[in-house]
Amino acid sequence: MTDIYDIYAVRYGHHFRHAAANFVGGDPHDAPMPLDYFVWVIRGENGTYLFDTGFDAAMAAKRKRDLVRPVEDGLRLIGITPDSVREIILSHLHFDHCGNHDLFPNARYHLQDVEMAYCTGRCMCHPVLRQPFEAEDVTNMVRKLYEGRVVFHDGVSEIAPNLIAHRVGGHSKGLQILRVLTRRGWVVLGSDAAHFYANVEEARPFPVVESITDMLDGYETMKRLASSPRHIIPGHDPLVLRRYPLHHPDIADIVRLDLDALG
Ligand SMILES: [Zn+2]
Ligand SMILES: [Zn+2]
Repeated sequence: MTDIYDIYAVRYGHHFRHAAANFVGGDPHDAPMPLDYFVWVIRGENGTYLFDTGFDAAMAAKRKRDLVRPVEDGLRLIGITPDSVREIILSHLHFDHCGNHDLFPNARYHLQDVEMAYCTGRCMCHPVLRQPFEAEDVTNMVRKLYEGRVVFHDGVSEIAPNLIAHRVGGHSKGLQILRVLTRRGWVVLGSDAAHFYANVEEARPFPVVESITDMLDGYETMKRLASSPRHIIPGHDPLVLRRYPLHHPDIADIVRLDLDALG
């Protein structure tokens, strides 16, 4: 079969927090509920696509997150050199999704119109809305635009055959998710449309939010686009690493999402 893809979730970062910080209205149990940070690699006969670019060591220090393994090292573990990456899709421009600005000199960047408008416009007058953005990330994307390296999308857009971007907004106004055909069916890479399985499964919104309505609608969109609930991949949930087969038995934090979930 052609036009199906392998998908790798490559963890690069970690951050400890309690559950109350992960849901609008808090959480009655408030147990530890840390975040993992990932980039995702989609590999098919058409080529290789990188979904999000993570953050680097300097940003990890600034934002007090743990850099578990630099993004470039994780990519090398699955045989990808940064120079070889030509297509990058950015879910949105929050600091943990669009850093490592100079790592991919040969890539162009796919972005929703609305995301660029959002983070360069009047909404950023509100500190609470600009808090997850970094001016350096945003200005760097403007620079890439003037280098002719940005491709804009508006809503639903076919990046490649059976690799389709869908704008859902909610968490950030121009947030896009990916629907990818694999050997096990349609996988939905949610990125921050759902930080955790619990956000989408229990319809409990994450508190970094531009529109609660769009976030809740986004959960429904993910369910509709995925072949089953097991085909929805949240953006920051450590459970992803436990639910999917390892790429390599000696590497605990790179998993294959195109293969059936464990158990
Ligand atoms: Zn985000
Ligand atoms: Zn994020």
